Amino acid sequence: MPRKKTVPEDSSGHLETPGTDTPQPPRKTRGKSPKPPTVLDIKKEPSKPSKRSADKGQKEEKDVGTSTAKRKAGITVDTTPPKKARNTTKNKEAESKPQAEAVVSNEKKKERKTKTTKIKVEAKDQEEKAKTEKVIGKGRKNGSKTKQEVKEEPTASSSTEEKTKPKRRAANKASVLLGGPGQFKKFVGAHVSITGGIQNAVENAVDINARAFGLFLRSQRQWACKPMEESAARLFREACQKQGFSPNQILPHGSYLLNCGAPNPETLRKSREALVDELKRCEQLGLTMYNFHPGSSCGEITVEECLTRIAESINLAHQQTSSVTTVIENMSCQGNTVGGKFAELRGIIDRVEDKSRVGVCLDTCHAFAAGYDLSTQAGYDKMMQEFEETIGFSYLRAMHINDSKGEVGCHLDRHENIGKGKIGIEGFRRVMNDPRLNNIPMILETPVGLDDDDEIRILYSLCEDL
Ligand SMILES: [Zn+2]
Ligand SMILES: [Zn+2]
Repeated sequence: MPRKKTVPEDSSGHLETPGTDTPQPPRKTRGKSPKPPTVLDIKKEPSKPSKRSADKGQKEEKDVGTSTAKRKAGITVDTTPPKKARNTTKNKEAESKPQAEAVVSNEKKKERKTKTTKIKVEAKDQEEKAKTEKVIGKGRKNGSKTKQEVKEEPTASSSTEEKTKPKRRAANKASVLLGGPGQFKKFVGAHVSITGGIQNAVENAVDINARAFGLFLRSQRQWACKPMEESAARLFREACQKQGFSPNQILPHGSYLLNCGAPNPETLRKSREALVDELKRCEQLGLTMYNFHPGSSCGEITVEECLTRIAESINLAHQQTSSVTTVIENMSCQGNTVGGKFAELRGIIDRVEDKSRVGVCLDTCHAFAAGYDLSTQAGYDKMMQEFEETIGFSYLRAMHINDSKGEVGCHLDRHENIGKGKIGIEGFRRVMNDPRLNNIPMILETPVGLDDDDEIRILYSLCEDL
């Protein structure tokens, strides 16, 4: 991807500027971009996070840019790419799939109309070969494939076998449309690109068969951004309506520049202004949730003082906006970031005046890195129990679904593709089958190694009850 790793103006040199020591980008920014060199490029450099975020050097995903900047500044940075800035565009598909694909698409469309599709899912994971047969009802034709299966089937499918399979990207798109809220329990998606206009995020989400999606609201590199054009906001709202995405399936991700708990007055002031600006953008887009990283003490103030500043920032932002819920994300305990421990998130919530407008987004990679071992049943149960006792599931508004490159408790914010990291596929099987996680956005922020729709498919293949 031609992302330009431009150094965020303010982050150059300023340790405090970036809200957190670890800007973990919303992984892949999938999306289509008018000019699709992205897809191909992404595939070529699947593990280089820094190149993935901002598509085409446009202004949105600068996660990468931010990370790079921080690296230069000697700051610990999360190398995880803002996932793939996937530019799933028609172009993308065209490029990644040979003509055979087109044929497949047509066939699939026909098959789609037919009732149900049987899909064999091989619980490929390590020892578990348990094969499960799922009968996917009308609507969903993406069969669920496991990683192995996915790997065996190159993106550019040309085998006749594939032609007969009722699963595929093109066909899958329909599943998103056919399955409206209420029909599904899990809403899996990914962070998508807004390159070319924020309204493009919606189609990018559809292109990867997402039932939920994350996106940036503005440039990640600059504090000052032009106001959002009402025409773009209208197109976004219309696209959401057309594609059947309701606000509770969409979770915007705040700028990494923000540090709403900053000890530096100037950084704090700019962060609070940016927070209000982003919340207002949400309102303009008809969105009801906004996710952001709590902040960092930068080692200059106590954690408690930092939590207080963050809560004050939220309170001030609530006063200047009317409805959006601020969703704070658990972090990995990297550096001086706060929010890695559930008790810290609780500490923020306790200080927020309007508790109906505060929530939590649980990032699996961050939790794992912070020491919650969801790779084991006992560790998962312990994490969830602590979450309930400390925060309460009533505050859980969303999930970030990421595997971890680092070991449990490593404190490093390094995202990995689902099943390829230290959490492992079984960890995600627990997540995908936990009813406490129903009906909330589950956003992938993984590296560009796999196609987004493949990872989404993998996750759904783990569900015993769709
Ligand atoms: Zn992260
Ligand atoms: Zn995040």
